[in-house]
Amino acid sequence: MSDKLLVIGEARDGVLRNVTFEAIAAAKKINSDGDIVGVLCGNDDLNAQAQEMIYYGADRVVTVHHDELKTYTSEGYGQAILPVIDDESLDGIIMGHTAIGKDLTPKLASKLESGLISDATEIEVEGDKAVFIRPIYSGKAFEKKTISSGLTFATIRPNNIPALERDESRSGDVSSKEVDIANIRTVIKEVIRKASEGVDLSEANVIIAGGRGVKSEEGFKPLYELADVLGGAVGASRGACDAEYCDYALQIGQTGKVVTPDLYIAVGISGAIQHLAGMSNSKVIVAINKDPEANIFNVADYGIVGDLFDVVPTLIEEVKKLK
Ligand code: FAD
Repeated sequence: MSDKLLVIGEARDGVLRNVTFEAIAAAKKINSDGDIVGVLCGNDDLNAQAQEMIYYGADRVVTVHHDELKTYTSEGYGQAILPVIDDESLDGIIMGHTAIGKDLTPKLASKLESGLISDATEIEVEGDKAVFIRPIYSGKAFEKKTISSGLTFATIRPNNIPALERDESRSGDVSSKEVDIANIRTVIKEVIRKASEGVDLSEANVIIAGGRGVKSEEGFKPLYELADVLGGAVGASRGACDAEYCDYALQIGQTGKVVTPDLYIAVGISGAIQHLAGMSNSKVIVAINKDPEANIFNVADYGIVGDLFDVVPTLIEEVKKLK
């Protein structure tokens, strides 16, 4: 992958997700002298978002406006982005490994008969080749992938490749592309937000995750308080979700979200292999569990053996004192 790379931007409530900037940094890593083109889809004015992509390193940005792009559908976004790809004669396309990225990139790649490297957590450059490093076997091993030839898509896991510094002195062209979008068979009737407001779990730098040990919905309250003082988000094990202490939108693990925060605090979580699959690549793991033999301590950098109902309030108080 070299030369001309396209970064597909993703916004939520009109604000670009951080992984968009990380994708630009990934493209820059692959080719610092290359032409990094951003693309944004939506039904509103996208100029401010396009400008942000430039501040974070894109050389220019193409915006696609259409009423049908108000809410994401793979058909709508596909019809919007394919003409941009056609115009640009690209070497590669990068996007975040988000729910939308996971849905859109395989569809575009199959349509264009291109390759796709998904869920890269790191990119290295060896000679003139980009090497994509991605976790396999639920994060227990990593594989390296290179591209021999042809247009290739890549998705990058949020929170792994640091974005470049925002620099308002960067400048670039913003152009708008007219496209025809028709025959959308998916009808979005309503968007229901299940996750709690606040920091997005998949992009949070700090996650406080509760397990069955938290014992009730009420028991999650101190976890929210700790997340609040640390500027983080609350997650959960499937055990806690199955017990209806919290919503499944918070589930982390093999069948939940995969997260890589700077700090992951596991509270009353035993450390089942399926849970570790979603969080074991976190940069620093702290486990709070009353069972010293709990498996979570095998992946933890710091372990606190104790009753979470004593430890969490003490942590909140101590963090507040530091502030
Ligand atoms: P438990 O295993 O019951 O552990 C509770 C822990 O809390 C214990 O270690 C206990 O010592 C501790 N504790 C209790 N009271 C206190 C206290 N007062 N203070 C401190 N510690 C206390 N699980 C996931 O999390 N995510 C997934 O995506 C997922 N996918 C799965 C997919 C499949 C196909 C299958 C079969 C299972 C999956 N699971 C998943 C379930 C997984 O196997 C475990 O059952 C689950 O992770 C257990 O949740 P837990 O650690 O909260 O509960």
